[in-house]
Amino acid sequence: MSDIIQLLPDSVANQIAAGEVVQRPASAVKELIENAIDAGADKIKLIVKDAGKSLIQVIDNGCGMSITDARLCFERHATSKIRKADDLFAIRTMGFRGEALASIAAIAQVQLKTKRVEDELGTIIEIEGSTVTNQQPEALPAGTSISIKNLFYNIPARRNFLKSNSVEMRHIIDEFQRIALAHPGIFFSLHSDGNEIFHLPSESLKQRIVHIFGNNHNQRLVPVEEDTTIITIKGFIGKPEFAKKTRGEQFFFVNNRFVKDPYLNHAVMNAYEDILPTDTYPLYILFIDIDPAKIDINVHPTKTEIKYEDDKAIYAILRSTVKRSLGRYNITPTLDFNQETSFSNLLTSKPLEEIQAPTISFNPNFNPFEDTKPSSSASRSSSYATGLEKKAGIPQNWDSLYQITQAETVEQLSLHQDRTVNDPATEHTPSSSAAPDVSKHFFQLHNRFIVSQIHSGFMVIDQQAAHERILFEHYLEQLEHHQGSSQQSLFPQTVELSPADFALMEDILPEIQTLGFQIRPFGKTTFIVDGIPADLGHGLHETTILEQLLEDFKNNKDELKLNKRESLARSLAKSAAIKPGTALDNQEMSELIDKLFATASPSISVHGKPVIVTITLQELAERFNK
Ligand code: ADP
Ligand code: MG
Repeated sequence: MSDIIQLLPDSVANQIAAGEVVQRPASAVKELIENAIDAGADKIKLIVKDAGKSLIQVIDNGCGMSITDARLCFERHATSKIRKADDLFAIRTMGFRGEALASIAAIAQVQLKTKRVEDELGTIIEIEGSTVTNQQPEALPAGTSISIKNLFYNIPARRNFLKSNSVEMRHIIDEFQRIALAHPGIFFSLHSDGNEIFHLPSESLKQRIVHIFGNNHNQRLVPVEEDTTIITIKGFIGKPEFAKKTRGEQFFFVNNRFVKDPYLNHAVMNAYEDILPTDTYPLYILFIDIDPAKIDINVHPTKTEIKYEDDKAIYAILRSTVKRSLGRYNITPTLDFNQETSFSNLLTSKPLEEIQAPTISFNPNFNPFEDTKPSSSASRSSSYATGLEKKAGIPQNWDSLYQITQAETVEQLSLHQDRTVNDPATEHTPSSSAAPDVSKHFFQLHNRFIVSQIHSGFMVIDQQAAHERILFEHYLEQLEHHQGSSQQSLFPQTVELSPADFALMEDILPEIQTLGFQIRPFGKTTFIVDGIPADLGHGLHETTILEQLLEDFKNNKDELKLNKRESLARSLAKSAAIKPGTALDNQEMSELIDKLFATASPSISVHGKPVIVTITLQELAERFNK
């Protein structure tokens, strides 16, 4: 039998490599911008069409390439950045594998225009499917422009797997932001379908953060700085009270390269310890500089993972540095350590002793019923999380709460229905002598739980979860029937968002309007809010509501893959629901419970947790060893 092993042709090998290097338009964006940075550019412009599916173009004013290099750069393992194996341990450039352009040229139609300052003429090269189709000299400005058209045009399976434009655009914006944060001294702009989404002049890191994430971040940043023999750390962390529901504002850069590192993340989170509200993530944008010989960045082709030699020491240094910065901020909350002139309004004129350390005091784990077993009936019906089944009068599952001991239910059902009208006499004299109907009385525990006697014992209702459930179903119905009513604001408010959030908001604008927000785009990253949903008036500021809504929306979408409406209804319900700590009077509790039992699934919170815990007399008796 003849030999059967053959070397793959380059075009095939490149296509295979491309699978690793280029997963989606955003990966090509990353490679091209990194090349521009490696080329020493201080102005980089990114243009995309169709979220990068039909065009990605990066224009830079970097060093450019000679005619020979322009041709060579599309060969596999062609790189100017390392020459020998040893260089791998001293990498300071973004690229080094020499794979990106070869891979991209294998799966797209690429045009390269490049000229070095010292050359008279530049070069144009066109290449598609790894085949050069055109090469000619041309009068060009110094620098490089690479356009990638129709990514994956020759691999339909890959092209079909690309997500919607809004999803792909988010990925592009994510990559763009990471690189722009890492290089605040470089001018960047991003144009998408003819609109300039980002325009970032050369600036300080703090200004860059504010440009990317929005003006309100000006007040939220705490500087971090540490220099040790092993590493230097600099950057900013966010004040704990501004921590968000999503991880969107957490960045590590090791030797200026964005990395995802659960271990380092743990060190930072550990430093925040218990000063963060539950399930929130503080902002951090931290730059760690380390001797390249002490790390291995060659772990993965996309280079977002790194191995460290001294990982324990790095963990400890990072943790204590962050802790110290937080401590310093506690004493002088608004003092800007950088003292950049353009942010000088941050400097406080208050004497130090007048400044209060911010306190965040609540125990997220507090549960007065910790020791009691959760009622089996409350969890029995918790097989669905969001309860979208249609309601039909009184839902079937709620009365099960009352069936724990055999005898009752019927009268208990009516008990809850005629509770809407509250008797003012009994409200103010709860222990009135006229044999009060105890079932009409509720007891609020720690302004957080409502306790109510039922036939079989008593039930404890989580007021926040109950209200969220009520509002969730209410908003969902509004979204389905397009009937949200709105309440005009006295003064229209402007809400400035980060460019990424602005794009997201535009995406969900029709639904937001249906919910009763009167809101319209105004300028590049600003919305004007003329009105908010009529039932949302708990003194919450428009900006806060919208910011929370967006945060929760992102969070829901990431975690639960809910559809847009569900996710929005959930987010708004969450923002608008009463929080622990809200005192309720008897009537308010009564109304809340009535409305809760009119929902499709009163016993399950929108997060799939119990809303109601029932303790039967029998359980109670058992605990008394009776
Ligand atoms: P790597 O970046 O790993 O070296 P690439 O395939 O991304 O590999 O690029 C190959 C080579 O092409 C680079 O090493 C560099 O010499 C050259 N090159 C790529 N992009 C540019 C650019 N924008 N300006 C100047 N040279 C570039
Ligand atoms: Mg490269």
